Amino acid sequence: MVKDFKQSLTTGLVSNLETKDKHGASIHPLYLSTTFKVDLDRDDQAYDYSRSGNPTRSLLQLQIGKLYEVPQEQVLAVSSGMTALDSIFRGIVLSKATHVPTIIAGDDLYGGSDRLLAYFDSRCHSRAVHVDTSDFDRFRTVFQSLDKVDAVLLESPTNPMCKVVDLPRIFKFIKQNSPSTHIIVDNTMMCGMNCNPIKLGADVVYESATKYLNGHHDIMAGVIVTKTPELAKQIYFVTNAVGSGLSPMDSWLLIRGLKTLSVRLYQQQYNSMILAKWLQDCCGFKPTAKNPRLKTRYVGLKSNPQFELHKSFNSGPGAVLAFETGSAVLSQRIVASKAFKVWYVTLSFGCINSVLSLPGKMSHASIDPEVRKQREFPEDIVRLCVGIEDIVDLQKDLLNAMIEADVLELQDNDKCIFNKLNGHKALNTIGEVGSQKRSIYDEFYGQDLIAKDNKINNRLLKL
Ligand code: PLP
Repeated sequence: MVKDFKQSLTTGLVSNLETKDKHGASIHPLYLSTTFKVDLDRDDQAYDYSRSGNPTRSLLQLQIGKLYEVPQEQVLAVSSGMTALDSIFRGIVLSKATHVPTIIAGDDLYGGSDRLLAYFDSRCHSRAVHVDTSDFDRFRTVFQSLDKVDAVLLESPTNPMCKVVDLPRIFKFIKQNSPSTHIIVDNTMMCGMNCNPIKLGADVVYESATKYLNGHHDIMAGVIVTKTPELAKQIYFVTNAVGSGLSPMDSWLLIRGLKTLSVRLYQQQYNSMILAKWLQDCCGFKPTAKNPRLKTRYVGLKSNPQFELHKSFNSGPGAVLAFETGSAVLSQRIVASKAFKVWYVTLSFGCINSVLSLPGKMSHASIDPEVRKQREFPEDIVRLCVGIEDIVDLQKDLLNAMIEADVLELQDNDKCIFNKLNGHKALNTIGEVGSQKRSIYDEFYGQDLIAKDNKINNRLLKL
């Protein structure tokens, strides 16, 4: 027997060795039953009514627990990412306060989270103070200027501006200066595969599982992970009381989605890196003397000043990037282009299909335009959420849309791409850089594994 054989996360999400089916089914069953027979002589029955608990939801919670390295008692699966945030607030922030609780949140939050905080504000349930959390000194100054901070809501990288928040540094500061402050992290942009804020010291982490965890844009779901069972119990009180636990069918689909998370995310990130580099270096979306307003935003670009910071506590850059044209009208023209055949214009991200959006008019439209202005939200930002398609198709499709929008032009017999906004011209590298498909044989034997194997065997024989 191999000693200390511990399944890796990738294997753990594919197989559920912990559960046994009485018929030996290789896929876990789906328990649609809303009620479970009650034996009045027993007080250890796990299930009686599906609002309170359901075996399929429990299995999902076990799988999410593997992702965040916590027992399933510290995981809750709910009906959406927004339900997750609402339940966390009502379970541990709003319910505890004998005063109006103060929450510090980022200034580049997902629009729906911003709307919920504004709703709590308007009803005097809580008071939200927004600050650029990627600027640690600014965050510290604001934190110290407040009498009491009940909770901090963080997201890194921010969406859609892709600003990196130094989570370990902020966590350390809060632990040292205000241990009773709840640290809450929206980990949707990274998902548990890339970042585990619980291990870094957060109290509660949630994700919109509608995104990477499911990956197919066919269910809405949210997951909540807590540092302690006690916190989970307090939040469970809300989800059980109102019935916001994830339905059995959606739990089952999410368990299935998780099985391919590792390979999906790998391909999505690989495509994103090629695309971001191509947009910046080949299509010219970078500030130049002639036009400083062009930009490519992605934490996976080495030219990004926050590249090393992000890499220091995440194992991947994710698959959301953005670019700016300097003009909201031009950006809208690109997004609205009828030339697109592969990219969809939709909300959301994390799916196997590539989608693009104009956040100012879509995901972040719920934030008051005046507030967006104060927070320097770029109205011309175009968000790209990259899928698993062939990268060459993604590049050609985007190029066609930008040509149609009169932003880019092919020159010199299609050998060069010319950016009309800043006069940047470069060789068209579509299909050349990073995107050549290597055969699986080349990929494997190219490493000269046989020679390596022989070398090791020869060394062992000499021992
Ligand atoms: N958090 C982030 C970062 C999001 O992008 C979203 C949705 O787009 C949510 C939370 C809300 O999740 P849901 O749409 O599943 O309610």
